[in-house]
Amino acid sequence: MAPSIHTNHTLVLVVDDDLVIQMQLRLAMEKEGYEVMVAADGKAALDICLNSPPDIVLLDAMMPVMDGFICCAQLHALDPNISILMITGLDDQGSVDKAFEVGAVDYITKPIDWAVLKQRVRRLLQMHWLIKEFQYKVKQEQLVAKITQKIRTSLNLELILSTTVIEVRKLLKTDRVIVYRFQPDGSGCVIVESVDPEWSSMLGRVFKDTYFLDKSSHKYRHSNVYVIEDVNDAGLSPCHIDLLNGLQAKANLVVPIEQENNIWGLLVVYECSKPRKWAKSDIDLLTQLTYPLIMAIQQAELYQQLEVANQKLQQLANIDSLTQIPNRRSFDQVLEREWKRLEREQVPLSLILCDIDFFKNYNDTYGHQLGDECLKEVAKIIYQVAQRPGDIAARYGGEEFALVLPNTDTTGAICIAEIILAYIRTRNLIHESSQISSYLTLSLGIATIIPQSSSSPKWLIAKADEALYRAKLTGRDRYAIYE
Ligand code: GH3
Ligand code: MG
Ligand code: MG
Repeated sequence: MAPSIHTNHTLVLVVDDDLVIQMQLRLAMEKEGYEVMVAADGKAALDICLNSPPDIVLLDAMMPVMDGFICCAQLHALDPNISILMITGLDDQGSVDKAFEVGAVDYITKPIDWAVLKQRVRRLLQMHWLIKEFQYKVKQEQLVAKITQKIRTSLNLELILSTTVIEVRKLLKTDRVIVYRFQPDGSGCVIVESVDPEWSSMLGRVFKDTYFLDKSSHKYRHSNVYVIEDVNDAGLSPCHIDLLNGLQAKANLVVPIEQENNIWGLLVVYECSKPRKWAKSDIDLLTQLTYPLIMAIQQAELYQQLEVANQKLQQLANIDSLTQIPNRRSFDQVLEREWKRLEREQVPLSLILCDIDFFKNYNDTYGHQLGDECLKEVAKIIYQVAQRPGDIAARYGGEEFALVLPNTDTTGAICIAEIILAYIRTRNLIHESSQISSYLTLSLGIATIIPQSSSSPKWLIAKADEALYRAKLTGRDRYAIYE
C-alpha cells in the first residue's frame, strides 16, 4: 500500500453524532480538497482508523456510546501520529486541559467559526506532514546507514543485496523489490527479491532477451531513476506493457547500478496492486542507495579476484616449476597429513624414493638443457603411476622423486615400483654414458610402516633412503625394500 505521505491526498475523519454538524464539517472539508470519512460515534471512528488511518480527525467531545475524550485517548494509543482536533461545546478550562491530556493537538469550540476551523486544520496538517517527513527522513538515513554498515562488516554480496531489498520494501511500503543482474550478453537474472506473499516470486527468473538493456538504456545511462507511475498510461510500447503486466507491475521505479559506465544491474521497485504516484523521497532513497551498493559490488568482486589469485599463488607454491608436478613442500605436507590420518586408522603407509642412475653423466654428455627435458619425462612417468586418490608423486629434489602411497603395504608398493621400472624401460630413453645400460634407468627405495606416535615421517624417509642406497650398491636399475 502506498503511503499518503508527500502526496496531495489528505484523509479527514469527521466524528460527530450531530448529523447536521457532521454534514457541515464534511462539506467544509471537501471544499478544502480533502477526502472525508465520517463516523457517528467513537467506536465507528476507531474501526475506520484501524482500516484506513486518516491524517487528521475532527472529533466531537460530547457523544453517546463513547465519550469523545475516551475515543481520543484510544485513537492516540492506536496511532500517535494521527492529529486529533477536538470540537467541544464546553468552553471551560477543564475540558480544554482534558483534551490535551488525552492526546488532542488542538481544539475549537462550538458554535464553529468556519474560517478559524479551516486555518486550524491547515496548520495542523502542515505540522503533520512535517513530522511525517522528518520521521521518514530519519528512517531513510537509518536504512542507508544500516546498508553501509553491512558493507563495512561483510564481504557477502548476496547478504548485502538481500538486506537492501527487504529494507527498501519495508520503507517504501511496496509490493516487490528486486535486484536484477546483467550478464555480458545483455540477458540477465533476478538475483535477490523481497516480495509480498500476495504476489508471485520473480526470484531466479532469467530474461534472455536484452530488453532491459536496449529499450531503456538511454534512460539508465545517466544514473537516472526510471519512473513509471501507471504502467498502462506511461506511453510505453505494447511489448513493454505486456512484460510489466506479466510481472504484475502497476507502477515501478528502476535504478541502474552502474560502475565505470558499465551497467552491473538494476534495483527495481514494483507496486503490484495499483498505480502509484512516487514521492520524491522514494526516488531520493534509491539514488542514495546506489553508491553504497556499487561499493559493495566492487568490494565483493575485489575479494573474489583476491581469492582466485591466492589460490593460484598457493598452487604455484606447491608445484615444481620445471616438472610441473608437486614439489618438496607439498610432499612434506601430504606425508605429514597422511601420516596423521593413517596413525588414527592404523593402516600402512608406503614411501618410494626414486633416483636417476648416473644422471651427472647424463648432464655431462647431453648438457643441462637435455638433462632438464629428461627430468620432465621421468616426472611424467612417475606422476602417471601415482593414480589412486591419496597417492602423490613429487619431485623430492635434484634428480630424485618420491611417491607417497597411503593405504599401501609393502606388496602394493613393490607392485608400483615394478610398474615404474617397466615403464621407464619401455620408454627407451638413451643414456650412453650410463655405466650399467644404454638407456636411462632408475633406482628405487621402498619403506612401509603403520604410522605410530613413537615414530615420524622423517623416519620413513630415512628408511626409504637407506633402501635406495642399497639398490644403488647392489647394481642400480632396481628397487630395494627396507626390511
Ligand atoms: P647415482 O647413480 O649414484 O645417483 O649418480 P648420479 O650422477 O645420478 O648422482 P649425483 O648425485 O652424483 O648427481 C646428480 C646430478 O643431478 C647432478 C646434478 O647436476 C643433476 N641435477 C640435479 N638437479 C638437476 C636439474 O634440475 N637439472 C639438471 N639438468 N640436472 C640436475
Ligand atoms: Mg641423487
Ligand atoms: Mg642419481
